[in-house]
Amino acid sequence: MYDVIVVGGGPCGASAAIRLTQRAPQLAARSLLIDKAVFPRKKLCGGGVTQHGWDLLHALDVALDVPMFPIHHMKLIYDDLETTFHWRNVFRIVQRDEFDAALLQVARTRGMEIREGIGVRDVLRDADGVTLLTNDGELRARAVIAADGANSIIRHKLGLVRSDRLSRLMEILTPVEHVERAPEFVNHTAVFDFTPIAKQVQGYYWDFPSYKNGAAVMNRGLFDARVRNDRPRAELKPVLAARLNERGLEMGDWRLEGHPERWFDPKEKHAVPRIVLAGDAAGTEPWLGEGISHAIDFGTRAADYVARAFAKNDFSFADYSKTISNSRLGQRLRLKKFIAHYIYGNRGEWFYRTGWRLLQIGLPVLRKN
Ligand SMILES: Cc1cc2nc3c(=O)[nH]c(=O)nc-3n(C[C@H](O)[C@H](O)[C@H](O)COP(=O)(O)OP(=O)(O)OC[C@H]3O[C@@H](n4cnc5c(N)ncnc54)[C@H](O)[C@@H]3O)c2cc1C
Repeated sequence: MYDVIVVGGGPCGASAAIRLTQRAPQLAARSLLIDKAVFPRKKLCGGGVTQHGWDLLHALDVALDVPMFPIHHMKLIYDDLETTFHWRNVFRIVQRDEFDAALLQVARTRGMEIREGIGVRDVLRDADGVTLLTNDGELRARAVIAADGANSIIRHKLGLVRSDRLSRLMEILTPVEHVERAPEFVNHTAVFDFTPIAKQVQGYYWDFPSYKNGAAVMNRGLFDARVRNDRPRAELKPVLAARLNERGLEMGDWRLEGHPERWFDPKEKHAVPRIVLAGDAAGTEPWLGEGISHAIDFGTRAADYVARAFAKNDFSFADYSKTISNSRLGQRLRLKKFIAHYIYGNRGEWFYRTGWRLLQIGLPVLRKN
């Protein structure tokens, strides 16, 4: 019987494991992290890690040596209006296969037992602990941190399913031949194009410049938060095709992939006795869809919460949702949900045009070097 099993080795699960080794080494020594994948594994993602995310890693005493492309300017577009937010290193773009594998390796070198290629298929709870049924037999733990992503099987098996809390994301990668002529690469600029709001999309189209295996690629995609799920669903493919056409690209020429994100609702339940949900399994923010830093934060807090439960010998986990919701992480997620709810509320042309004009005046003042 393990003390803690962390399910999922993404940024959330790896951070939870690292935090356990930092805060409760004796507990970590009797704990295990499992992931159904073998790392480095593919994860569909823009790979933008905000400064907040790097600060959280720093607090875990982690400095990752992975290639990254720093972003100093965010170009915000709405139809024919645009404005640019200047902030040195506002985020850095990583390749998720490299980033996640490096983070998991830190957890391993700090002493956490990690087993890859072990996928959870079912979850059973009893008075003494949790049994995980996996492709490699049964595993027992006194507590489980479920960091198994937006499609969390553990969440599903616990019946904590809310399919109306899912954002939709689509992504393509296109090679960039003349980097020296691409302003996004030359100026380190990421593009957030909110024009799709006029087509009922509750989000934006993005262009993120980056390098994959040394080759310049543009990570392009569409984010539809669906935070106002009372409103009609947008047709995403024609919207994405139109954004790509504007950039001289045909959607059919590229491999299009999609994956959901779950958004955090403080009113939902994120724990049952002996099991907590964390990271995308619990939810992230539906404004810009930033999930990596919140997953690191969530993993860290989930580990702290579970370590406290062992100290108190109380595995009811009754106040987990409240603890997260009242934390700085919860405050951030709630604020971003509020912003998303407000700006994606289909407020009419005048609202967005006025907003952009105000941004054109206000953003230069906020400039950060
Ligand atoms: C297209 C797209 C673009 C995005 N772009 C950005 C961005 O630029 N910046 C940003 O901050 N966020 C972005 N996000 C969000 C970000 O990818 C997630 O929020 C983040 O990966 C969440 O981390 P996590 O550790 O909670 O989950 P994940 O990274 O999804 O990790 C979950 C892990 O659990 C494992 N797992 C799943 N099921 C099982 C099982 N049954 N048994 C064992 N293991 C299992 C998986 O193999 C995986 O390794 C994007 C998301 C998408 C879909």
